[in-house]
Amino acid sequence: MSVETGCPFCDAKQTVYLESERWQLLRHADPVALSGWMMLATRAHRSGVDAMDEVEQREVGVILAEVARAVRAETGCERTYSITFNEAVKHLHLHVIPRHEGDVSTTSWALADRYRATARKEREAADPTEAERCAKAIAVRCIDALRPLGFRLP
Ligand SMILES: [Zn+2]
Repeated sequence: MSVETGCPFCDAKQTVYLESERWQLLRHADPVALSGWMMLATRAHRSGVDAMDEVEQREVGVILAEVARAVRAETGCERTYSITFNEAVKHLHLHVIPRHEGDVSTTSWALADRYRATARKEREAADPTEAERCAKAIAVRCIDALRPLGFRLP
């Protein structure tokens, strides 16, 4: 498998909540704006969606849909966002983010402002203990549906 030294996803320094031969489900590192902010990353070092292999291309939609359903169920959000930039870390990772209808700060570009304010510590981050509990619960909600793709709880 292709790995890159110095890449935080390849170095596997973060807690993994769900994994398969090809994928790892992580939560956004603290400080994080919202509990339930998850990240689906390839295990191989891929620069972006156009670098996925054929199996990853087939699996990604199924996994994303299941993670999004679990984020919605666990956080009580009405919708989820799925975005990928691969900018700060140039290793394919797809963010799955709760979108709470009653909270305009979770709306598209307002969410980007909230994200930056949280990163600069100008806005209170999600409680790390709750974010951790939430990520584990999301993984548990996903596992049965994703077991056919080789997923397991670590
Ligand atoms: Zn990498």
